[in-house]
Amino acid sequence: MSLDLSTTRFAPSPTGRLHLGHAMSAVLSHDFARARGGRFLLRIEDIDPGRTREEFVGGIEEDLRWLGLDWDGPVVRQSERLPLYAEALERLRARDLVYPCFCTRADIARSAAAPHGPEGPLYPGTCRGLADPDLSRPHAWRLDVAKATALTGPLEWHDEHAGAIVAQPELLGDVVLARKDAPTSYHVAVTVDDAAQGVTDVIRGQDLFLSTHVHRLLQALLDLPTPSYHHHPLILDANGERLAKRHGALSLADLRAEGVDPREIVSAFRDGRAPLGFRLSGV
Ligand code: GLU
Repeated sequence: MSLDLSTTRFAPSPTGRLHLGHAMSAVLSHDFARARGGRFLLRIEDIDPGRTREEFVGGIEEDLRWLGLDWDGPVVRQSERLPLYAEALERLRARDLVYPCFCTRADIARSAAAPHGPEGPLYPGTCRGLADPDLSRPHAWRLDVAKATALTGPLEWHDEHAGAIVAQPELLGDVVLARKDAPTSYHVAVTVDDAAQGVTDVIRGQDLFLSTHVHRLLQALLDLPTPSYHHHPLILDANGERLAKRHGALSLADLRAEGVDPREIVSAFRDGRAPLGFRLSGV
């Protein structure tokens, strides 16, 4: 067996039914691995106890089967791997690269000094460098991005479409790595698991492009390998509006109930277009 066996994964969060954007990530990830005799893994990102619902986990598998996709090996659930994420956070804490943050969302929204990033206001750093933080109070942990990047120096990652990218984790600011109500974050869990599962190619939507800067920094800090990234276009409706769960997008379950042929969806993605009258961003 080759050591660099191509490995991809589909990693949905079970906070709703899958929609067409998920289907695109799943089809492209599946096909990439299958075309190379590699592995396609399914990982359930159920780290948010407030938003995860068990019925959606079953829904994910049902929707993938409806699309005709199969995956390799057992389904990994992040909720069963919390000690690994805690260990990664502890390594960062031991090097003083994270700090406790006591701010509420309202505190942050009120801060006039908040710098702006491409996706909105950034954390203004209120709790960075607190002299004697009281850890008995509810708190999150934030990454001290300036300190971390000073340590790693410049980093690069490779995007299959955009080429060599200089990592700019500061675009997302001092991101939260663990929350009051969730012992880890998307950024930590995804970085740890992509490495632990030997993922060579991360194929996901363009909406996660900026997160990759943070993941690249975490890989450097935790001595983990860097996969290749493929950020695919997003699906837009006729008005150019992005399809996302929060906009009440049609789910795959809805499309199935309406009698849509799943082959129509899968073959559109295989041809590099959006199905059912939708279009792709940037195309
Ligand atoms: N769990 C994330 C989501 O459902 C995607 C994770 C990833 O592909 O990196 O949006």
